Amino acid sequence: MGKDNRHSEKRILEKTLDELYIKSRAPMKGFFVLVFFYLACTFSVSFVAKSQSSVNIKGIEIGVYTFAGVISSLANILAIFMTVYYGKKGFFTALSVLVLQLPMIFMGIFVRRTYTSIPGVFGNLVAILAIIAIFANNLRIEKYQTKLREQAVTDMLTGIPNRFACSELVMDFIKRGTPFAAVSVNLNGFKGINDTMGFDVGNAVLMEVASRWKKIADNGNSGTLDFICRLAGDEFAIVIRHYLTQDDILKTINLYADALNEKIVAQDYSISISASFGYAMFPDDAKDVNELFTYANIAMLKAKESADQKHVMRFSRDMMDNLHTAELEAKIRDAIENDTIYFNLQPQFDMNHKLRGFEALARMKDTDGSFISPGEFIPIAEETGIIDKIDSSVFNKSARFIGNLIKETGADIMLSINVSVKHMMKADFLDELTSILEESGIRPVNLEIEITESIMIESMEKAFECIESIKKMGIQIAIDDFGTGYSSLSYLNSFPANLLKIDKSFIDKMNSSDSSKQYVAAIISLGHIMGIDVISEGVEQEDQLDTLKEIGCDYVQGFIWGRPLPQEDARKVVLDSLEMA
Ligand code: C2E
Ligand code: CA
Ligand code: CA
Repeated sequence: MGKDNRHSEKRILEKTLDELYIKSRAPMKGFFVLVFFYLACTFSVSFVAKSQSSVNIKGIEIGVYTFAGVISSLANILAIFMTVYYGKKGFFTALSVLVLQLPMIFMGIFVRRTYTSIPGVFGNLVAILAIIAIFANNLRIEKYQTKLREQAVTDMLTGIPNRFACSELVMDFIKRGTPFAAVSVNLNGFKGINDTMGFDVGNAVLMEVASRWKKIADNGNSGTLDFICRLAGDEFAIVIRHYLTQDDILKTINLYADALNEKIVAQDYSISISASFGYAMFPDDAKDVNELFTYANIAMLKAKESADQKHVMRFSRDMMDNLHTAELEAKIRDAIENDTIYFNLQPQFDMNHKLRGFEALARMKDTDGSFISPGEFIPIAEETGIIDKIDSSVFNKSARFIGNLIKETGADIMLSINVSVKHMMKADFLDELTSILEESGIRPVNLEIEITESIMIESMEKAFECIESIKKMGIQIAIDDFGTGYSSLSYLNSFPANLLKIDKSFIDKMNSSDSSKQYVAAIISLGHIMGIDVISEGVEQEDQLDTLKEIGCDYVQGFIWGRPLPQEDARKVVLDSLEMA
C-alpha cells in the first residue's frame, strides 16, 4: 500500500507541477504531420534534382531541378522544428533521417560522380550540427527544470514534501471529493531545544523526526494512506486517506506519536520529544484547504493545552467558540490592565424632550482600532468574573465626568450605571459606592444603579439585602431590560426600585400588534400603581414616541433623541438643555 501511496501522490504532484511550468507540449498529431512532410521533402529532393523537365512561369522556362535546394532547406527547417518542439522523439527522428541520407549522398558523389550533390552534404551536416546543439541545450534546460520542480515541492531541510506540495495535494483531493483527515502536528517544547541547545541540534531533531515519520508514511504499516509534509519550523501535516472509522485515524496518528518514543540523539545530546496532533475531516468539518488546516490547528492547540495530556484531538465547533471567548477574554484583560475601557453616555429624556440624565455604557476597542460591541464583551466579562473591573472603570470615569459637569453647569441630571449583580454582591461594593460619590461630588439622588431583571431574579434573596442598603444611601435603583425576566408581581411590589426600563424588544413590536401595545401599556400602569417611573428603551421611530405618549410613559431613551455619545457631545447636550430651560 505504501508504494501505491507514493505513486498516486507523485502523479498528482507531477501533474500540478507540469501545469505550473510552461512546457512546450505540442500535440502528437502535429508530430506525425511534421514527420510526413519531412520525409516527403527528404525523398523528393533527389527526384527533383534529377528532373529534366521545366515549368513555365510568366513566359520564363525554369528547370524543376532548381527547386531541389528549396526543398532541401525546407526539410532542414522541419528537422529543426521537430527537435525544438518534440524533444528526444523529434531529435532522433530527424537525426536518423539526416544520417541515413549521408551514405546515399556520398554514393552519388563517389560512385555516380554526381558532383551537384556536394552542397547537399554541407546542408546536411549543418542541419545535423544545428539539431545536436538545440537538443543539448534542451537537455540542459530540462535538467534545470526538473531540479526546480523538485525544489518547489520539497522541504530543503528534511527532504520531505513542503507546504506547497501539501496544499496542492489537498486541493486535488477536495476537487475529486476524496475523503481525508487533515492532521496538524506540532512538536512539544521544540522552541526550548532550539534556544538551549542551538539551531544545529534543532535542525537535527527536525530531520530525525521527519525521517521517522516518512518511513511510516512510505511503508504503509498504518493501514491507511498517509502523506507527510513539513509546513514550517516544527509544524508538520499529515493527510490521511483510506480509513473506515475514526479509530483507524486515531490508530494511524498514534503510530506517528509512538515513533517519537525513542530518544533522538543529536550531537552530544539525547533528546526526548513528543508532538501534539489535531485533525479536521474533509468533507465533514470543512470543504476548503485553509479552513481545514485552520480547524486542524485549533484542535492541535487544544490537544497541546489539554490538562490530561491528550496528544490528539479532533476539531469540533465548540472549540471555535472557546477560542473566540479565550481570545476576547485576553483582550478584555489587556484593556482593563491598560485602562483603555472607556464610556459613552446615552441621554434619557422625559416625554417633552427635557433631559433627565445619561446612561453610561462601556466601550472597548480592538487592537486594530475597531469597535467591539458590549453585547459581545460584557457577557464574556460576566462569565469569566472580570465584569466588576469594567463596571468600576466605567463607574469611576463617568461619575467624575458627570460630577464635574454638574459642578460646572449646575444641571440637575441623573447618571445611570450598569452594575452586574455579581459585582453588586461583592463585600466592598458599598464602600466603592461611597468613595465614588465622595470623589465625584455627585449627590446620591443623582446616581442610579441599573440592575438587569433576569439576573436579579436568579439571586433574589442575596441581591435584595444589597439593594436595600444601596437604597438606604439615597441612591436610585432601575430595573433594566424589564419584561424579559418574567418578574412576579409580588417581588415588584416589595422591590425598592424607582425606575422600570422597558426592554427594546417590546418597543420594537409595540406598533405592529395591538397585544404588544397593550402589554407595554400594562407595564406602565403597573409601574405607576407601584409608584415607579417607566422609561422605554430603544425608541427609534416617531410613531413609537406617539404611542408612548398616548399610553403614559414617563421617559424615553433611544436613537430617536440621542445615541450613546462621547463626553464632549454629552456636554453639549447638557448645555443645550440648560439654554432651552
Ligand atoms: P442596556 O443596559 O440595555 O443598554 C442599552 C443598549 O441599547 C445600549 O447598547 C444602547 O446603545 C442600545 N440602544 C439604546 N437606544 C437604542 C436604539 O434606539 N436602538 C438600538 N438599536 N439600540 C439602542 P450597548 O451600549 O451595546 O450595550 C449593550 C449592553 O451591554 C447594555 O444593555 C448593558 O446590559 C451592557 N453594558 C454596557 N455597559 C456596561 C457596563 O459598564 N457594565 C455592565 N455590567 N454592563 C454594561
Ligand atoms: Ca442598562
Ligand atoms: Ca436595557
